Amino acid sequence: MNKYVRKNVNRMKGYTPGEQPSDPLIIKLNTNENPYAPSPAVGRALEDFDFTNLGLYPDPLATKLRGMIAAYHGCETCRVLAGNGSDELLALCVRAFVEGRGKIGFFEPSYSLYPVLAEMHGLRAIAVPLGSDFEWAMPDEVDASLFFLANPNAPTGIMYPMEQVRHFCERFPGVVVIDEAYADFAEANCMSLALELENVIVLRTFSKSFSLAGLRLGYAVGAPELVGAMSKLKDSYNVDRIAQTLGCAAFADMDYMRSNCENIKNIRRHTAAELEKRSFRVFPSQANFLWVEPSGIEAAVLFEKLRERNILVRYFPGPRTGRCLRISMGTRAQMDVLLGAVDRILQLK
Ligand SMILES: *Cc1c(COP(=O)(O)O)cnc(C)c1O
Repeated sequence: MNKYVRKNVNRMKGYTPGEQPSDPLIIKLNTNENPYAPSPAVGRALEDFDFTNLGLYPDPLATKLRGMIAAYHGCETCRVLAGNGSDELLALCVRAFVEGRGKIGFFEPSYSLYPVLAEMHGLRAIAVPLGSDFEWAMPDEVDASLFFLANPNAPTGIMYPMEQVRHFCERFPGVVVIDEAYADFAEANCMSLALELENVIVLRTFSKSFSLAGLRLGYAVGAPELVGAMSKLKDSYNVDRIAQTLGCAAFADMDYMRSNCENIKNIRRHTAAELEKRSFRVFPSQANFLWVEPSGIEAAVLFEKLRERNILVRYFPGPRTGRCLRISMGTRAQMDVLLGAVDRILQLK
């Protein structure tokens, strides 16, 4: 406790990101990064980048990047806001759409940053439990002014159908933020809701499908009034010059992003089939990770034993999540190392 620090900040635990070890021998399947490099066009843009321009502030409105994003989604630029990762945009939504004593809803389990964002602002969190198999289980009424909906969900990878989401958005009295961090790995998405409904924001990120988690770039799409409100609250120069330049280069090479995602989806299919052969329960994933319930071993024990073998996956302790592990899709070779390690741990081979 420190007397100079706000009470709720003293009380809060803060967000715990997945480990980022520096040892290159560690196989990192714990933070849903993309194991493949970004588009070579990003590399060329970085080489061509004139470092002397770093003396100048970036375009505060990221006009060129937002224009490209708007053209891709078939909307006006005023419906797009660029952010320093979608995590910044989530925080802006809290600041823009929730009054001082308001409430924020989200499913449980879902992205573990959501309750932390509520805590940071001293707001009430309304955690809506998912069904027993982590399926959609929305009550008729949710008393909140903002709802964070990760779709596909994390850590489960389960996708909620658009009509179900639309029905909820149409009834919910506040703003629904559909966090589509994994949409490029999915069969469908809800972008059309952000273009049609006045209370919906869709968030996308360059961190997963574009292999640019280190760049910190994401964007929001929604009604001009909502996007404008978020824009008023952002840091003036929230997306730096390098991120704007490389973001444009990545976004111009959609073919690369799409084939990268196709590859990851093939690895997901392969890994899911292999884990099912080992009697794991594999939940249907539309993301770049699998949510699995191991068989013949406790999730926590398998997590530790993989860790001893330099393979990091994600374990979320707790009554709902503690029987499962979240495994990010690495390269095909990394997944084969994982499967071999599982076999040895379970003494299957
Ligand atoms: C990875 C992730 C994000 C964070 O994206 P950044 O753009 O890297 O901040 C947001 N939401 C969900 C559900 C994620 O999994």
